[in-house]
Amino acid sequence: MKSLKTLFKLKCPKCTKGDVFENHKIFRYSKMHTYCPNCNYNNMIEPGFFYGAMYVSYILMVAESMATFLICQVFFDQNFDLRIFPFVVGILLILSPYNYKLSRAIWIFMFYKKKLPNKN
Ligand SMILES: [Zn+2]
Repeated sequence: MKSLKTLFKLKCPKCTKGDVFENHKIFRYSKMHTYCPNCNYNNMIEPGFFYGAMYVSYILMVAESMATFLICQVFFDQNFDLRIFPFVVGILLILSPYNYKLSRAIWIFMFYKKKLPNKN
């Protein structure tokens, strides 16, 4: 549960205190810290590491589109009303900076390996 909170706050997976991104504002794009400012954890494991975050971003966008569509459908008479489409596009445009950040944070968390204590 704590790691989910850390993830959505876009914090470092290792120390849970350092920011992954330079800018804290949710709806603004910002540069990433290559190394965590608190614990010096390397966020960029290898060149091209964040190409995989595009798939995470795609999944987030599909989920947000479906949620927006289902919520908007309540306010329209027809089942599949094309007037909902601009709302879906608007929500996706508004959330795209956060999707960008969250997908990269999820990708970092997916490949973060906790050092387990030795059993020897
Ligand atoms: Zn850190």
